[in-house]
Amino acid sequence: MATKDDCIFCKIANHQIESDYVYEDELVCAFRDMDPQAPVHVLIVPKQHYDDIIDDVPADTLVAMKRAIAEVARREGVDASGFRIIANTGADGGQTVRHLHMHLLGGRSLGAAILPES
Ligand code: 5GP
Ligand code: ZN
Repeated sequence: MATKDDCIFCKIANHQIESDYVYEDELVCAFRDMDPQAPVHVLIVPKQHYDDIIDDVPADTLVAMKRAIAEVARREGVDASGFRIIANTGADGGQTVRHLHMHLLGGRSLGAAILPES
């Protein structure tokens, strides 16, 4: 499995470091963000290391991430009320952890603005 020794999300996804997991299958896992920005804030990550969404991510992994989004939304009770998916990418995108991850945010109205007030 392609992992990086110095990557925190590789360690969490492969249980070298335990976290607060919400969902897991062969290809992906989902765990609660340590600094939640909404009542529901879960990170969905592939178990293999990819830097970001424009890395060479296989189709089955992308499908698994999509299935995980649906399952996490259902388990967290936001499938009906709605939620937001964010994949910060690169420096201008505000990505701080260079292991592909999608934020699933919900549990309150997040408003219509795509970006926070600046
Ligand atoms: P980014 O800014 O890269 O899109 O988001 C990285 C996210 O990962 C942040 O929201 C941050 O709170 C979260 N995070 C960073 N390190 C850890 C960790 O060790 N455990 C958990 N659960 N979340 C982390
Ligand atoms: Zn990694």
